[in-house]
Amino acid sequence: MKQLHSQDELEAWRQSLPAQAELVLVPTMGALHRGHQSLLEAALAMGQPVLTSIFVNPLQFERADDLQHYPRTLDADLQLLESLGVAAVYLPAANDIVPAGLQVGLDPGPVGSVLEGAARPGHFAGMLTIVHKLFQRCQPQHAWFGEKDAQQLFLVRRMVADLDLRVKIHACPTYREQDGLAYSSRNARLDTQARKEALLLSRALFAAGDAFVQGCQQPRQLEELMRAMFADSPLQLAYAAVVRECDFAPAEAGDGEDWRALIAARIQGIHLLDNLRLTTSV
Ligand code: AMP
Repeated sequence: MKQLHSQDELEAWRQSLPAQAELVLVPTMGALHRGHQSLLEAALAMGQPVLTSIFVNPLQFERADDLQHYPRTLDADLQLLESLGVAAVYLPAANDIVPAGLQVGLDPGPVGSVLEGAARPGHFAGMLTIVHKLFQRCQPQHAWFGEKDAQQLFLVRRMVADLDLRVKIHACPTYREQDGLAYSSRNARLDTQARKEALLLSRALFAAGDAFVQGCQQPRQLEELMRAMFADSPLQLAYAAVVRECDFAPAEAGDGEDWRALIAARIQGIHLLDNLRLTTSV
């Protein structure tokens, strides 16, 4: 597996690929876990060269302590990527991809300031700015993102559509631990007790999913059901919402089945998020 640090190295490697190859990019912030692995396996299954980027993007952290404590496990990450058969890893330096004095960024539009965007102001502008730069630098034909970050996936798709980017976005379902907790790099920061409490996120989503299957088509009731589950919990709920998958607007009764429940909460200063598509089909 090639390790690429500079733009020159990246471009030289990009040009060494066979002319008919379609480059598949999987952007990450490292601290790779089984969720990343399932995303990478889906990307690798395309049978094309896979490039993974590892970059902890300071622009998408609204809290300095969160950025400082974000887990970093580069050696283990490189071993995993190599063992999976990833062709190259791009490791841009922070002062290269986010130079001092960077002034122009991307505006994520209205969906960028609700839910995760309201809980973390500036998060999506920072995320899109760097994803756009990665697309520019890597020139992939395909890029894979996880449904775990459904609002991010929505905004990346909107960016590609609205700015005429020539990259096809693919989505991978959320990979969960056996008890339902969605794999996340931040889970490594949870102590045993907080890990147990964190299960409430997926439990609340599954409860909303069950209620939906059993016929509750009232989004506000589904939101209330999720919120009520946090009443006696040490988790501080940031939001519990049911939105329309097509535009992230609040779901309304009669919309049909295009709904997704999203939830985020903080424990011991660690921000966790999860979501679930609400569907009656198995
Ligand atoms: P991150 O390193 O957290 O920025 O995540 C990199 C990519 O992995 C993003 O597209 C995430 O949505 C995706 N991802 C993170 N956790 C999971 C998971 N549990 N299952 C599937 N994809 C995930």
